[in-house]
Amino acid sequence: MKFISTRGRAPSLSFSDTVLAGLASDGGLYVPESLPSFSVEEIRAMSGLDYRELAFRIIQPFVGGELMDEELRGIIERAYRNFRHGAVAPLVQTGSGEWILELFQGPTLAFKDFALQFLGQLFDHLLKKRGERVVVMGATSGDTGSAAIEGCRHCENIDIFILHPHNRVSEVQRRQMTTVLSDNVFNIALEGNFDDCQNMVKASFADQSFLPDGRRLVAVNSINWARIMAQIVYYFYSAVSLGAPDRTVNFSVPTGNFGDIFAGYLARKMGLPIDQLVIATNANDILHRCISGNDHTPKELVHSLSPSMDIMVSSNFERLLFDLYDRDGAAVADLLADRSAPMHLSEDALKRAREVFSSWTVDDQRTVSVIREVYESCGYILDPHTAIGVEAARQVRRSQEQPMVCLSTAHPAKFPDAVARALPTKQIPLPAHMQDLFQREERMKVLPNELAKVHDFMATALGAG
Ligand SMILES: *Cc1c(COP(=O)(O)O)cnc(C)c1O
Repeated sequence: MKFISTRGRAPSLSFSDTVLAGLASDGGLYVPESLPSFSVEEIRAMSGLDYRELAFRIIQPFVGGELMDEELRGIIERAYRNFRHGAVAPLVQTGSGEWILELFQGPTLAFKDFALQFLGQLFDHLLKKRGERVVVMGATSGDTGSAAIEGCRHCENIDIFILHPHNRVSEVQRRQMTTVLSDNVFNIALEGNFDDCQNMVKASFADQSFLPDGRRLVAVNSINWARIMAQIVYYFYSAVSLGAPDRTVNFSVPTGNFGDIFAGYLARKMGLPIDQLVIATNANDILHRCISGNDHTPKELVHSLSPSMDIMVSSNFERLLFDLYDRDGAAVADLLADRSAPMHLSEDALKRAREVFSSWTVDDQRTVSVIREVYESCGYILDPHTAIGVEAARQVRRSQEQPMVCLSTAHPAKFPDAVARALPTKQIPLPAHMQDLFQREERMKVLPNELAKVHDFMATALGAG
């Protein structure tokens, strides 16, 4: 399968080149030239499959020809063996037709493990075959970093540098990154916010001359195609277990960079019967303003109780725009020429987006109330990101007959401060494998928000290694 850029001016690439490329050379994001699709019979036959077997069926058409079936099965097997629940992604009912899809059973307690455990195994496999060693560089507002580090810590052909905004991630999130003491893992605490971290990574990709000879940067942030692809699987898995394809199933997704919900959009295009996808945002509500009022104007970043969704402009939204504009790369390039400027969608594009997507925004105060309300009604404790998804679903749900699956993107123990505001007397223990997290030794480098300083640090670290 070939992959093309959303801006229409970069060469098309194979699957493995796409995965290792990150951004396209024209600044766009890679998408498959065409999508595989599954018939009603094929989807019906997915019922009862083990998560790994289902993952193989969904992913295989994207990589066929480049990975042999046994290679892909091995990658999937290794990626999902560290999940704590036998179902990998279990469903829990919290209301009438309302379900929570627990995507936090992986090693770092957030849904990003689904993509990054897979990506780490995939990278290592591809790099070993090529005899190449690369440098992974990424920015994190919290969960991506730890998931990427967990995904890459055992990879022989990768050094990984993760930038997080200094003092702006929760202590659990920071410790999950900084207590991994492997020689190929480097944490940088940048004196700035998440967007500063992201800009630093972008600038580094644009000019990689600071790296030692023979090395290149590889991206693991949510623009990486393999991450989106791995996330398509749990839409099928949960929908099929709730009766698809003989029943329509809808989803509500706590949204930041638009990667997770975009995977749901692709699942729908691949044949899964989904009528409604709810974009749930916190006070950083640019996507809600865009869908509800065609106002895509970047605003000052707000720090919320759901930090993994504190994002000013969602990078993967570009992939949706490409579709809404009939895959016209020039039109997308025009629209995004200045990402800090207000953007208005054409009437047709907006109409098409609204056929599938609804949106809602939930502030911190309401987030806390929802955690409390859901606990009082059914004894289930939501993390603040998931609470936003549940509330958004309750506000904009179109059908009471069709199940609504709310994606639970993190374990509540990861965000104890937010949960304590809602349930002050409740202690939420960390799972067994993380019980000693607060006693472990940390390693990180605090650096100013200056490109040259970051590059010096990286070059020295790589030179020494
Ligand atoms: C990353 C993340 C999100 C947002 O997902 P996107 O794919 O960036 O939209 C939501 N919740 C949690 C807990 C996350 O870590």
